Amino acid sequence: MSLQLRDTLSGERRPFAPIDPKRVGVYSCGPTIYGPAHIGNFRSFLFADLLVRWLRASGYPTTWVVNLTDIDDKIIRASKAEGIEIRPLTDRWEAVFRSDAAALRMTTPDHLPRATEHIDEQVNLVTKLLEREIAYRTEDGSIFFRIAAWPAYGKLARLDPEAMRVGERVEADEYTKDDVRDFVLWKAAKEGEPAWDTSIGRGRPGWHLECSAMSMRYLGESFDLHTGGIDLIFPHHEDEIAQSEAATGKSFVGTWLHCAHLHVSGDKMSKSLGNIARVSDLLASGVDPRALRLALISAHYRTALNYTDDSLPAATAALERIDAFAAALTARRAVAANAAERVDAAKVAASTAWDRFAAAMDDDLAVPEALAALFDLIREGNRLLVDGCGADGASALAATLERMDAVLALLPGASELPSGAAQLLEARIAARAAKDFAASDRLRDELATIGVLVEDGRDGQRWRLK
Ligand SMILES: [Zn+2]
Repeated sequence: MSLQLRDTLSGERRPFAPIDPKRVGVYSCGPTIYGPAHIGNFRSFLFADLLVRWLRASGYPTTWVVNLTDIDDKIIRASKAEGIEIRPLTDRWEAVFRSDAAALRMTTPDHLPRATEHIDEQVNLVTKLLEREIAYRTEDGSIFFRIAAWPAYGKLARLDPEAMRVGERVEADEYTKDDVRDFVLWKAAKEGEPAWDTSIGRGRPGWHLECSAMSMRYLGESFDLHTGGIDLIFPHHEDEIAQSEAATGKSFVGTWLHCAHLHVSGDKMSKSLGNIARVSDLLASGVDPRALRLALISAHYRTALNYTDDSLPAATAALERIDAFAAALTARRAVAANAAERVDAAKVAASTAWDRFAAAMDDDLAVPEALAALFDLIREGNRLLVDGCGADGASALAATLERMDAVLALLPGASELPSGAAQLLEARIAARAAKDFAASDRLRDELATIGVLVEDGRDGQRWRLK
């Protein structure tokens, strides 16, 4: 089977057919950098990360663009409230976003463009829309998109054309489905707000404009995949489609993918409930970023994810099983004895597990089924290790585990071991193989002093961080 994805615009599940298989383009709406990102934001970013990892694992060279919104109504309000300039404010929160993303092992996007560094592209887009008389200027110099001039408006959000308030305007960056009105492309300069002098006048871009301008700047006028949370369908993505297609006359995006909500103990995250879980706070409180990653990717992207007090302990327990299996494979690969029959059984188990994993990911990124394939591999692999599949069997199992992990990114990386620990673990495997138990005990104590706890099981040595 090849990759199948469910496209929000058509409502259809279709085989993925890239415009150019040698250059797949993915655009994801990124963070508004005026405060810390919460786990709901990162659920959406990590879903896009899995998509990009799976495209690359499937052999598609992929360019991933994630924008940084560094100018909009909310940022201007935050800058005034905190009494600091916009640039230092957004620089600070960009750094926090990058550090959260790295901790959660999000693939670094190829481009992380900022809206304020792409004013020319946005002005060019508005100019085209003015020339085509799809955009119009109001008395104060602001420029609006005329939805009556674009009959396809409302297709993505499945809006009722009767509900559109023709000739009325909405100036805010964010609004609801009750506000289907002409939306702002360019906001005329106002006292106390940042503004740029441009060929379309002095002002600043509206929020929706940046994603059209920057996606087309990096991926071309038509590109393959656009992702975001379902809360972005209207108005943000509806407006992106309208602006882009009205300006270019081309189809903007091949497949739209939207990630469902994240709830906390059954409730929507909200300031009034005081249940907003911020990634940087969780990490600062000592939460294992790998456990948080697993908790956030474990549900299918199109189903709501309910984050509860049990989510992290469950993810931690699952990681312990993965880590123990990886450690057992490492230990067994250092031992030579092979029983041919068991080696073959391990090879079959490894390839069957990979086929199941790949079929699940090809099935509209069915991560729960992919994780089930991983844990079945662990269950069967542990049995084969005990039965004696030897170094060759362990190698086959390890190769599949690593191949899966190129997509899931859950295994402890070498960088997470304290410096020198890898060498001590290797030396201890050698000491035990040579039955030098005095040396193996000494190495275990030495590892404990640097925070690595080692245990010996039937499968060999296992370790975890203290
Ligand atoms: Zn966007």
